[in-house]
Amino acid sequence: MKFWRKPLDLDTQQVLRGDAHILRERCKGCGYCVEFCPEDVLKLDHAYNKKGYHPPVVVEGKECVMCKLCEMICPDFAIFITERVKVPAEVSHV
Ligand code: SF4
Ligand code: SF4
Repeated sequence: MKFWRKPLDLDTQQVLRGDAHILRERCKGCGYCVEFCPEDVLKLDHAYNKKGYHPPVVVEGKECVMCKLCEMICPDFAIFITERVKVPAEVSHV
């Protein structure tokens, strides 16, 4: 995550991670979600959906921080975010 300065309590804060789910056939390719994502997680796909638009896809290697701005801004309810479930650390058996 990019900061213009390092917050003093960064080490004690946990940043949530999310997974973006795109309903490709609902999308009209307006690009709002791509434009306003603060982490540049999304880009428009080269492929078309059935309506002839380019829906967004997740950029490889980018991490969604669950701000849900894309979800709020999408005029067609074509994208939503779920929290990434953490796999608990393995418990060692004696
Ligand atoms: S929730 Fe925020 S960080 Fe994640 S894809 Fe949407 S706009 Fe980007
Ligand atoms: S904001 Fe919604 S309709 Fe616009 S490109 Fe993103 S997913 Fe598609």
